[in-house]
Amino acid sequence: MKTEMVSAFAEDFEEKVKELGAVIRRGGLVGFPTETVYGLGGNALDGEAAKKIYAAKGRPSDNPLIVHVADAAQAEQLARELSPLERRLMADFWPGPLTLVVPKKDIIPAETSGGLDTVALRCPVHPAAQALIRAAGVPIAGPSANLSGRPSPTSAEDVMHDLGGRIDAIIDGGPCRIGVESTIVSCAGGRITIYRPGGLAKEALEAYAPVEIDPGIQSGSAHPKAPGMKYRHYAPAAPLTVYTGDAEKTEAAILSFAEKKDKTYGFFVSEETAAKLPVGMPVFIWGRRGDEKSMAHRLFEGLHYFNDHPVEQIIGEGIASTGLGLAIMNRLTKASGYHIIVETAK
Ligand code: AMP
Ligand code: MG
Repeated sequence: MKTEMVSAFAEDFEEKVKELGAVIRRGGLVGFPTETVYGLGGNALDGEAAKKIYAAKGRPSDNPLIVHVADAAQAEQLARELSPLERRLMADFWPGPLTLVVPKKDIIPAETSGGLDTVALRCPVHPAAQALIRAAGVPIAGPSANLSGRPSPTSAEDVMHDLGGRIDAIIDGGPCRIGVESTIVSCAGGRITIYRPGGLAKEALEAYAPVEIDPGIQSGSAHPKAPGMKYRHYAPAAPLTVYTGDAEKTEAAILSFAEKKDKTYGFFVSEETAAKLPVGMPVFIWGRRGDEKSMAHRLFEGLHYFNDHPVEQIIGEGIASTGLGLAIMNRLTKASGYHIIVETAK
């Protein structure tokens, strides 16, 4: 199959997106940009389309798909019931990087929901995503558009690299503004439980209800509430170890690897640390220390960087787990296979 690349900025995009909507309705697959990461879109109401998504990604079929809607009215058609809290969150944070897990109607097939009785709903803000959902006239199941286990795509080229030849088309809408996936929550029992930290900070939800993080997403637990959280994720081309905690000790630990000759090391570090590395070392300069927005934006670019700059071991620098830092450290924890070393001040 030849994968067509379609620019969201071309003059004829309005026409083009109608054709792509028809591709989705017919059961085809289209990669599309969102403000979080690129999605792999298929008709959420068609179990066969869901099967194609799992096959294209190489994703285990017990790992359900997030369903993208154009607005809250479309969500009402898919949810068996919505609580006042869920409606408030939709009103205040949609369109945006928040996914709600709610009881599903039968119209959502078991393939889309991974056999669960719930469905994860999200309303993206990106205009090209909105245009595609409206053109399709059906909700769009859209997991991240990467091969299962690899870092999520934040550009159309990333999608082509992983899924070129396996899907019908990709809409190029430029780089993703936020760069980490949506925050997934459940509001069961009137509390907010974060199933996956993401582009909407935990702190933003605290005004609405008590917020807790699913204990099942901690290191290696077998039963997270979001089935996908148990799988290896975001693996870069070489093993990654991340140092975090006390700034001075973290920096010293990272810089010590520049002296070592036992293997080739690559560095995934802040501007401040990069400035102290010897010239000529393979380094991805992530951003200014603590600038969580730009670090979220460039996280997956950094994990992809070492595909083209091969090394034997990547040494990473972490950030504090507050605000967007929670989502970033969750991704780095998975990308490193839990090789996180916390440096404490003396
Ligand atoms: P991705 O498709 O890569 O953005 O990942 C979607 C995440 O949402 C995975 O971790 C899924 O397991 C999770 N998810 C999707 N639907 C549900 C659901 N109904 N209940 C719990 N988690 C879900
Ligand atoms: Mg994913």
